[in-house]
Amino acid sequence: MASVKISIIGAGSAIFSVRLTSDICKTKSLSGSVVTLMDVDEKRLDAAYELASRYAKDMKADVHFKKTMDLKDALTGADFVINTALVGGHDFLEKMRKIGEKHGYYRGIDSQEFNMVSDYYTLTNWNQLSYFLKIANMMEELSPNAWLLQAANPVFEGTTLISRNSKIKMVGFCHGHYAVNNIIDALGLEKEKVDWQIAGFNHAIWLTRFQYNGNDAYPLLDEWIKKNPNGKSPKTPFDDQLSPVAIDNYRFYGRMPIGDTVRNTGWRYHYDLETKKRWYGEPWGGADSELGWKWYEDRLIEITTLTSKAAEVLKKDENMTLSDVLSANSSMIPRDFAEEVENFYDPNTMSGEQHIPFIDAIVNNHTNRFVVNVLNNGVIPNIPDDVAVEIPAKVDKDGIHPEEISPSLPPRIVKWYLYPRMMRMEWALEAFEKKDPDLIVEILLRDPRTRSYEQAKGVVEDLFKEVSW
Ligand code: NAD
Repeated sequence: MASVKISIIGAGSAIFSVRLTSDICKTKSLSGSVVTLMDVDEKRLDAAYELASRYAKDMKADVHFKKTMDLKDALTGADFVINTALVGGHDFLEKMRKIGEKHGYYRGIDSQEFNMVSDYYTLTNWNQLSYFLKIANMMEELSPNAWLLQAANPVFEGTTLISRNSKIKMVGFCHGHYAVNNIIDALGLEKEKVDWQIAGFNHAIWLTRFQYNGNDAYPLLDEWIKKNPNGKSPKTPFDDQLSPVAIDNYRFYGRMPIGDTVRNTGWRYHYDLETKKRWYGEPWGGADSELGWKWYEDRLIEITTLTSKAAEVLKKDENMTLSDVLSANSSMIPRDFAEEVENFYDPNTMSGEQHIPFIDAIVNNHTNRFVVNVLNNGVIPNIPDDVAVEIPAKVDKDGIHPEEISPSLPPRIVKWYLYPRMMRMEWALEAFEKKDPDLIVEILLRDPRTRSYEQAKGVVEDLFKEVSW
C-alpha cells in the first residue's frame, strides 16, 4: 500500500472528473494519496472539487483533494499526471466545424477518412497539441520521474508527439476497446471463457484474436451475422458495435473493427446524413452525424449542469451527502448515465476507466492487463517503432510489458487502413510542428469534398484566423 500524488489536468471534464475521483476513493491500496485537481475554469474546478471531497467523506476514503488553477502548482512534485483537458472546449470545436461547413466540408475539415470522431481534431486544434507538449516539458522540470497518462484526444497523435519529443514516461488511454463486451454479450458467451486481443492505433483497433473455450469464436460471430444480416438497431448513437457498417468493414478487412474504430470508417459511410443513417442506423446515423453529436453534447451539458447544481447544494449544507443530492435530483440524471451513478456508491464497482488501476499496478505491483497506447517498438510488424500503437499489455511495478500480437494483423488491415491512417497522423503532426497551414491545404487537396484549390485555401485561411498556438 502506498500513497502518491496524482494531478488531474482539466479536472472539470464532464466525462472524466467523476469517474476518476470515485475510482481513487475506491482503491484502498492508494489510501493516503493526495489528488490535485487543476482546471482553468474556476466554476467547473470548484464543482469538481466539492463533489470529490464530499464523495471521499461519504465513502470514508483516506484521500485528500486539493484544487488549483495554476498548472505549475499542479505538476510540481506529482507522481502521476492525468491530462483530460480540452483546450477551447467543445465550443471551439463547434466553431471550427461551422467554418468548415460554410466552405462545403460536411462535419468540418477535421472529419477525415478513418478519423470521423467529432472531438478528435487533428488538423485545427494546434492549441490542444501545444498544451500536450507544454505539460510534458514542464513535467521534465517539475516532476521528472512522474508518469503522464494521456486521456485527452487526439490520443494517437498526442502519444506519438509527446513520446517523440519528451523523455517523460507516458501512456495514452482510451475506453473504446470495452466494446468487445458488446460482441460477447450479443453472442451470449461467458466473459471468463473468452480470450480476446486487439491491435492497431487509437480509434483504429481490430479484433485480432477471438477465442471461446480455446476455439476460434469468429464462426460464432459469422452465425450471428447470418441470422442478423442487418445488424442490431441502435439504442443510442454510440451503439454501433454490431451495426451494418461494422459488419461491412468486417467483410472487407477480415477482422472486426472495435469500439470507436466503427466510427472511423471510410468516406462511403459518411457522405451525408442519409448515408450515415443507412449504415449506422436510425434515427441518429451514428455518434458523429449532426444528430448523434448533438445528442452527446446535450448529455455533456446535462452532466455539467447536474455537477454544478449538486456542488452548490453541498456547499450550503455541510451535513448533506452527495448521495442525498443525487437522489433528490434523479430526474436530472441522463437516462444512460443512471447505471453509472448507481454504481457510484458500490465500493466494488470501478468506473471502467483504466487510469487509476494503472497507477495501482505501477505503485503497488497489482499486476493487471490494460489496453495501452505506447510507441510501437516492434510490437506490430511493418509499423515504424516511433508510432504509437494501441495494444494489450501487462503492467506491474516494472512498467508496461506489451503482449505479442498473435495472430498478427492481416495485411488487408495494415495496408488499407493502418498505413493511410498513420500517414494522416504524420501529415497532421508535420503541419503542427512546422506551424504551416499550407500543409493543411495539401491534406485537403486529397479530400473528396474538395472541388478546387481555392476552396481548400479559403477554408484554411478562415480557420487559421481562429487558431492560436
Ligand atoms: P470538457 O470540455 O467537458 O472538459 C475539459 C475540461 O478541460 C474543462 O473543464 C475545461 O475547463 C478544461 N480545460 C480547458 N483548457 C484547459 C487548460 N488549458 N488547462 C486545464 N484545463 C483546461 O471535455 P470532455 O468532453 O470531458 O473531454 C475532455 C477530453 O477527453 C477531450 O479531448 C475528449 O476528446 C477526450 N475523451 C477521451 C476519451 C478516452 O477514452 N480517451 C473519452 C472521451 C473523451
